[in-house]
Amino acid sequence: MSQDETATGFVVLGGGISGLSLAWQLAARHQGNVVLLERNPQVGGLAAGMRWHGISLDLGSHRIHSGFEPAAFKLVEQLVNGGLRARGRRGSILVANEFLPYPPSLATIAGSFGLRQSLVFLKDFVLAGIGRRLHGSDQASFESYLRSRVGNSLFELFYRPYAEKLWGLPPSQISFEPAVARLHRVRGGVPRSQRGTFYYPNGGMGQIADALREGITRQGGTVLTGAEATELHPEKDRVRVVARLAQENRTHTVCARTCISTLPLRTTWSVAGLQAEPLPLRWRSLRVAYLLYAAPVPGDVDTYYFPDPRLRVGRVSSIHRFNPGLPDPADRILTVEIPCSETDDVWTMSNRDLSPIVHRELVATGVLDARVSAPVEVQTIGLRDVYPIYELGWRQRWAAVIDRLGRFDHLLLAGRSALFLHCNIDHCMMMSRRLAALLESPHANGRWRTQLDGFALLPLKE
Ligand SMILES: Cc1cc2nc3c(=O)[nH]c(=O)nc-3n(C[C@H](O)[C@H](O)[C@H](O)COP(=O)(O)OP(=O)(O)OC[C@H]3O[C@@H](n4cnc5c(N)ncnc54)[C@H](O)[C@@H]3O)c2cc1C
Repeated sequence: MSQDETATGFVVLGGGISGLSLAWQLAARHQGNVVLLERNPQVGGLAAGMRWHGISLDLGSHRIHSGFEPAAFKLVEQLVNGGLRARGRRGSILVANEFLPYPPSLATIAGSFGLRQSLVFLKDFVLAGIGRRLHGSDQASFESYLRSRVGNSLFELFYRPYAEKLWGLPPSQISFEPAVARLHRVRGGVPRSQRGTFYYPNGGMGQIADALREGITRQGGTVLTGAEATELHPEKDRVRVVARLAQENRTHTVCARTCISTLPLRTTWSVAGLQAEPLPLRWRSLRVAYLLYAAPVPGDVDTYYFPDPRLRVGRVSSIHRFNPGLPDPADRILTVEIPCSETDDVWTMSNRDLSPIVHRELVATGVLDARVSAPVEVQTIGLRDVYPIYELGWRQRWAAVIDRLGRFDHLLLAGRSALFLHCNIDHCMMMSRRLAALLESPHANGRWRTQLDGFALLPLKE
């Protein structure tokens, strides 16, 4: 074997939470017989920490929600070794020029919009219920489904702007399925006492990924960072993966019995050599801007939500309110998320041009007082393909894509980015745990494929 080739039982592509959780489980079950390849210098993917001014910043607002899968919550607690803090949630959403506590309740809506408007919401809600009894739920689209569940006026107030902002499409072109998942999440299985609580690791979300990486190597597994998977070749009883090593300007080949890709689906498609075939799925991307101000940002809101598609800003969070123990300049930093497509000007705009636009919106919406001067420094990062667009008919196209990749022997897909999911860290962890167990049994590929339909959209329950 040449120096540039490694043989192993499992090769895991991608060092986000899904790949790390899986490699960690496999290392434990197979005496460290696993190699993980990650393109970036650090692990964590979407849940990585980005250091700026000595502080680990998340790639957009990340936290451990109170509805986290209990098994995943336990695992995170164990990984951060007691460094998980409970925080009271203080979110605020701007709808129709009113800031409401987030998530909004019927009582706060009634309080904010007055008796007359609340009666309109109630009347439409009741009419929707009667319509459902007579005709059943309308599952033609995101729009028709929600109109039939919450009524026309609440749909117009919350769900139309939400859909247009997130997916960049009218809600009539989106499938009803994310609406079902959304309502399911709103009703959540979270005890009332915990609904206003979230948890946050003292070292930032990136601490979870770093702890997983350490766990893999402690159990004898290998994590190669700066290793970009570029080719995948299934052979008779193994798979060969070629990776480009950024630091050393050479390639390295890993041969394994099984390859699990957690890479973004578009990347798996091209690494598998399918670039010539169109990928019939679309995503929205996210530009994240970190604004550093000269003085601490006043207020006590941890996260603002702006569903209005006329605003570029979608969500604004303050890392200092997630973790007040962080040193200066944490209380001077705002993290701003801007959902967009890669054809939008905000995707390519320079930091210098983007900064005043974002600052102006923060002042116009009332997040910042007009006397606050422009940020002294701005950093941004572009996250490609983070939000799957569940257009009408997506499920058939998704199944065709998954089945196309299923023709590659010894290759399986797992995780949010690989499977066109809009799910959280806990779902990624649970999925990886389930797959690691399944890989012990014969016919794992076929059995895994049958489980994938169930993962799409709805939260994964053990
Ligand atoms: C803005 C935002 C906020 C979120 N907030 C929360 C939250 O509050 N709570 C929560 O639980 N979840 C949250 N999530 C979801 C959570 O971040 C994801 O579910 C999770 O991080 C996905 O992990 P993954 O491993 O499946 O995918 P990814 O993190 O995308 O991992 C894929 C990995 O593959 C690597 N890669 C890509 N190409 C190659 C290549 N060619 N070779 C090798 N490696 C490659 C990437 O660098 C990356 O590390 C949020 C997500 C976003 C976008």
